[in-house]
Amino acid sequence: MTRPLIGISGSIRVLDGAERAGVNAAYAHSISQAGGIPILLTPPIGPDRAADALAPLDGLILTGGHDVDPQWYDAHPSPALGPVDLHRDEFELALFHAARSQGLPILGICRGLQLVNVAMGGTLYQDLPSEQPGDIPHDPPVPRDARTHAITLSAGSRLQCALDTGVLVTNSFHHQAIRDLAPGLTVTARAEDGVIEGVEGSADEAGWLLAVQWHPEEFHHTPNAPDQRLFDALVKASAVRAYAERAPYRSPG
Ligand code: MN
Repeated sequence: MTRPLIGISGSIRVLDGAERAGVNAAYAHSISQAGGIPILLTPPIGPDRAADALAPLDGLILTGGHDVDPQWYDAHPSPALGPVDLHRDEFELALFHAARSQGLPILGICRGLQLVNVAMGGTLYQDLPSEQPGDIPHDPPVPRDARTHAITLSAGSRLQCALDTGVLVTNSFHHQAIRDLAPGLTVTARAEDGVIEGVEGSADEAGWLLAVQWHPEEFHHTPNAPDQRLFDALVKASAVRAYAERAPYRSPG
């Protein structure tokens, strides 16, 4: 069996006086457990080479992190906007568009869901507590694997089929969320306050596209956690696409 190569978008952070290119290891653990090979895609590659970086790969995860700069959806920064990273935004937007044109399966997580929505023409709440206050804390100060609020999944969606449940209590570490949904996306999960927690592309198009607002990777150490099935689904879709891509052409008749 050929193991799919799954690109994971990373960031640059300064630690102990040095810039470091990296990603939370939980994403890599989750992909490895699903049978894929995690490959770090780091912003210094640059937006112009995003397509080249993806060419040998079979799938893509757009990961969590800083707020998406509101300039990408023609909004002024709100006072409660968190730190932004223009270079990472530009690189990941290029990764998204290149992955779509190459037909690569894409899983967006937290910031990744927000980036997918912006890349496809949607907008964001820059800060839920000040712009859309509700009863559910979406960024509570709890451990990364603490399940704090329920989401309801749309029957028959990729998300619901992968998780095989109608309701899931998830972790939640976001102060931004989807405001206007991009054309081409369907909402497949919401919290009880209406916040969008899952979206996906239409089932009839070539590219598999699924994005979630919570952090399924943080449950990689929990045996049989349903969240791991999202990575299983990404790796499976990536293997199917890789097989179709590499299959020899057979002339009709
Ligand atoms: Mn949430």
